[in-house]
Amino acid sequence: MKFQLTEPNKQYSNAELIEDIQRVAGELGKNSVSQREYDRLGNFSYQTFKKRFGSWKSALKEAGLEQSKRPWGGDLTETRIPKEQLIADMKRVAGELEKQAITIADYDKHGKFGSSAICKRFGGWNKAKEAANLKIGRVYNSTDEDYFENIADVWEHLGRQPRYQEMTAPLSKLNISSYERKFGTWRNALEKFVEYINSKDDAEEPQEAIEPKKSAIVPKKEEKPIKKQVVKKRTNRIANLRQRFRVMKRDGFKCVLCGSSPATQVGCELHIDHIIPWSKGGETVEENLRTLCSSCNLGRSNKE
Ligand SMILES: [Zn+2]
Repeated sequence: MKFQLTEPNKQYSNAELIEDIQRVAGELGKNSVSQREYDRLGNFSYQTFKKRFGSWKSALKEAGLEQSKRPWGGDLTETRIPKEQLIADMKRVAGELEKQAITIADYDKHGKFGSSAICKRFGGWNKAKEAANLKIGRVYNSTDEDYFENIADVWEHLGRQPRYQEMTAPLSKLNISSYERKFGTWRNALEKFVEYINSKDDAEEPQEAIEPKKSAIVPKKEEKPIKKQVVKKRTNRIANLRQRFRVMKRDGFKCVLCGSSPATQVGCELHIDHIIPWSKGGETVEENLRTLCSSCNLGRSNKE
């Protein structure tokens, strides 16, 4: 069962695109959004806006926003932003990058405001850093699987594909900039995740393994060739990350018995259940697995 990522260009209306620019403007606390800012915080590609509205300028106009003087950089409204807010944002970037000495380039890539505006306000980049008194963040040593597992967790919780902005604590254990560093972009991380989920390994299918027959007594002088016997090798009892995700996706991230889901009910936890219990010979294969909430799953195992 293959699945694909949401295709942003195809299934969204102009109104939804415009709403997304307005949302980004709201998040930035500004009445204009530069292409660079949108590129970082928006759900769609800048090219989509160009295609739909002719230009970024007309998209902004459609959204009732002002056109920035410098569409790729910060604009003049930044001179009105309080210093504390600029410092807070520098600290946020430093924390996300897990770096003390963030460079102008780092800030331009991840910051909300223009680095030039910050330099102007503090009289230089180093002075601004001094004012921010930056501290070193934690360093993670995560494997690809950790990154994928975290995406799967967030996805399961939301019941749908997570958005860039949703990859924040406490929902996401890894922050978005770690994904960007590892995979280049969030979209790319999602694509690698899908590739991973759609791949299969041998352990996911029951296999016919050939093993030599065990004989307790060795026949004395008869020269019998060792008979080979076909032994059915069982699947693992516990579904792996890929199987778990595929089954939940198939079941719509909902309990198949009562319909409850973490997306709609606080405290709801989903489990993977064997339809024919593993203890009774049921294999850990997608056809024999289903999604249950913890209370339905508990009720079921008590009856057995
Ligand atoms: Zn249930």
